[in-house]
This record gives sequence, C-alpha cells and structure tokens, in this order.
Amino acid sequence: MTQTAIIVGAGLGGLAAARGLEAAGWQVRVLEAAPAVRGLGAGISITANGLAALDELGVGDAVRERAVRALPEGVFTDQGSPLQQGFQLPSSAVHAIHRSTLHDALRDGREVETGMRVVGVTDGSKGRPSVTVEHGAADPDSADARDERQRRRDRARGTKLGRRIHRVLEPGDDPIDRKAESRASRAQVRAVEAARFETIEADLVVGADGIDSAVRKALWPKARTDYSGATCWYGVLQAEADSPAGVRQYLGRAAEFGMEPIDGGRVYWWAMAHARMGQTAGDEVEAARARFDSWAPEVRDHIAATPQAAIVRRDLWSLATPLRGFTRPGVVLLGDAAHAMLPTLGQGGNLTFEDAATLGILLEDHSLDEALRRYDRARVGRTQRFQQRSRRLASTTVRARNPVLVAARNGAYNLVPTMAAEVVADWMLGWRSPRHTD
Ligand SMILES: Cc1cc2nc3c(=O)[nH]c(=O)nc-3n(C[C@H](O)[C@H](O)[C@H](O)COP(=O)(O)OP(=O)(O)OC[C@H]3O[C@@H](n4cnc5c(N)ncnc54)[C@H](O)[C@@H]3O)c2cc1C
Repeated sequence: MTQTAIIVGAGLGGLAAARGLEAAGWQVRVLEAAPAVRGLGAGISITANGLAALDELGVGDAVRERAVRALPEGVFTDQGSPLQQGFQLPSSAVHAIHRSTLHDALRDGREVETGMRVVGVTDGSKGRPSVTVEHGAADPDSADARDERQRRRDRARGTKLGRRIHRVLEPGDDPIDRKAESRASRAQVRAVEAARFETIEADLVVGADGIDSAVRKALWPKARTDYSGATCWYGVLQAEADSPAGVRQYLGRAAEFGMEPIDGGRVYWWAMAHARMGQTAGDEVEAARARFDSWAPEVRDHIAATPQAAIVRRDLWSLATPLRGFTRPGVVLLGDAAHAMLPTLGQGGNLTFEDAATLGILLEDHSLDEALRRYDRARVGRTQRFQQRSRRLASTTVRARNPVLVAARNGAYNLVPTMAAEVVADWMLGWRSPRHTD
C-alpha cells in the first residue's frame, strides 16, 4: 500500500523533500501557511554538495541551466584591498540563482496547499502521527498575523475559550490559567475547534517549516532560538558596470558585504552588520547605504542602485539548542527546522538539500523506522558541525567589533595560503549520497 506523508512548509526544504519522497514512491501533501508559495526576494549560492543533492532529487540539471556558475573572486577589506585570492578549484564554483527561480525549478508544477498553517503535531508513538491545521490563517509574516498572535495572547489572559485553544495548539507557550480554562464547556471548545481546525493523519510528518518550526515547538519544546546580534539586508538589481563576474566578499568592522551574479543578468548582494534586535527603517536602502557609507565604491554603488522594492531586511537568528536527534516516531525535521544556522558559510540551504535527498533515498531502501534511524545518524553530526562553524565565523566577522580583533583577522587571512583554504572548503563540502555509503 502507498505510504503517505504530510510535509509542513513549502520553502526550499519542503519542496525538495516532496521530490525525494515522491521518488521513493510516497504520496505527499505539502501544507504551506502563507497564501502563496514564494522564494524570498534574494539570491542563494549553491555549492558542490548542494548541487550533488539536487542531482539526487532530479533537479540538478534544471538548476545548472538557469543559474550562473561563479568562482569565488576573493575576500577584500571594506576598502577593497585584497585579503585572500579567489579559489581556482572547479569544485569551488557556486551556482548562484534567484530564490524564486530555484523555487519554480524545485516545485515544477507540484500542488501545494496554501493558507494551511500547522499549529499542532502529534507523533506516532500512540497511533498515526498527525498535524492540526488552522484554516484561513493569515500569512505568518503579515502585520495582521502578528496582531492576531498578540490578540490571542491578550485574549488568553482574560478569557477561558481562547486560553484553552491556545494551550491545545501552541505547546511550549506560557503557563496555563487552569481556573479560567475550566469555565469553558467541552461543547464550546469542540464547536470552535471543529469550525476552524482540522486534524490530518499520515504515515510520516516532515517538519520543513523553518526556524520557527511549529513541528519542532510541539515535539522538541525545550529547543530555543537565539539572536545573533546582527541584521542582514539583501538586494537584487540589474548588473552594473562594476558588478563582479564571480563571488566577492568584503570584511569590515562588525560587518560583511558580499555580491555575486545571478540569473536574468542580475546581481545579488547581502550586507550583514552588528545591530540591536528588531530595528527597522522606513527606507531600508538608505539605512543600508548609511551603514556601509565608508566602504569601497562598488559596495556603495550596488546598495544605492537597488530599487526600494528589491531590498529585504531580516535579523539573523539561529537554533541555539542543538537537537540530539531530528526524528520522533513517524516525524522528521529537516532544513532550518532542524538546524537553523547563521548564513556566514552560506550552507543552510545546501544542507537542507542534502537532508531531503538523504531522506528520500533512505525511504526507498528501508522501512520507515529504519530510515529515520539512519537519517539521524547521517544528518545530526554533519549539520551541527556547520552550525558551530557558522557561529565561530560570525565571531570574526559580524561580531568582531574590537579593532584589534579585526586587524588580527585580516592578518590571518593574509597568512593562510589560498590553496590551503580551498582544500579545507573542498573537504567540508564533500557530501556522499547514502546510495554510495550504505
Ligand atoms: C541572508 C541569508 C542568506 C543565505 N544565503 C544562503 C546561501 O547562499 N546558501 C545556502 O545554502 N543557504 C543560505 N541561507 C540559508 C537558507 O536560506 C535556509 O537555510 C533555507 O532557506 C532553509 O529552508 P527551509 O525550507 O528549511 O526553511 P524556510 O525557507 O524558512 O521555509 C519554511 C516554510 O515553511 C512555512 N511555514 C512556517 N511555519 C509554518 C506552519 N506552521 N505551517 C505551514 N507552513 C509553515 C514558511 O512560510 C516557509 O514557506 C541564507 C539565509 C539567510 C537568512
């Protein structure tokens, strides 16, 4: 009999997992909270390991066709002086692509059920695993949704019905006002739940719902996320006369800037900088321009030439509690839900593709329980090493505020031969498909 899976989230991880599970003969439903499937307005670098995983998922060639193959052109100071030469090994090349192009290639016409926010999950220890979906939930990123979450919290404080549903659906939240809760009749609670919430069972639930994962909150309630102390602007614009043909990275005091060519004759840039949490500006182009005002001319030019609608700002968070395993009976986490990391190494998405390919291949060859055991063995150690390295790297870039530390870091870049750095990168990015390791 065909086995069924519910994939929570239609980001890069959810869409990749859908491909992997379908190839293993599973019947898949993808549930997405947002009203539409969308790739964030930015680019992404796919490294050799990510591309190998995309090959396993049957979409590597489509990505090669659309992406720009770019070699690292080097690391520079904020003033544009060279710190490290570009890499020459062919395996150092990245495939740089706009996220919406990548989303389209991964999705390839697959059905995604949008407006389906998963708010509760049970694992398969006492029956079939299931998810509870809230119908018609607002887009989680919208101001309406943020207001609604606040309203729920307020309402929960004062009234019984809200509190009870709150408890059922958002495990790990505030302590419960049991006295108030007990005043709501069972019938009242059931009627409200039935109209608004639906429970769906499957053989497997895949939590691909990103850093704020509802699946993880339900089944790993102690795991915490952590603010990195840095914010990130990223923008896309048509290539300029001084745009690079490869990947360029600039390091300054408590800040980093990078840019690379992507499909459509465009350039993608990212700008990370130490900042207090939650700051926003009416004009983010101006805010980024002001922060990088004293940097090399090509950095300033690219920020200033970015259309207002093509810049996004996001504070950088990561999963602070390393999970001991990514599985529960009948439930598996992948991507940022399992190992959200800082983007300093540009590996979060690449490792997500590895997760999805690994899961699909293991489910082709093994029973569900055995596949989940092997998935944990293959994924936990490797992804957590990248989490640690990303954090350590941040302490020498976006967290390096002390000028002495900045000078020492720049000196170290000058000392490490490019060849040695390249060989380390090559080793780190080696990923072997379970087809070749089993
Ligand atoms: C600035 C920046 C630059 C980066 N650059 C790179 C790079 O160059 N290379 C690289 O490999 N990685 C990069 N990353 C990391 C990469 O973007 C992430 O690791 C990757 O997008 C994770 O994919 P995901 O599918 O796990 O999560 P997400 O992309 O966050 O997708 C989660 C999906 O789940 C949905 N969802 C959330 N909650 C629910 C719910 N309750 N119910 C239903 N659906 C839900 C969301 O709406 C979303 O569609 C970068 C990250 C940042 C922040």
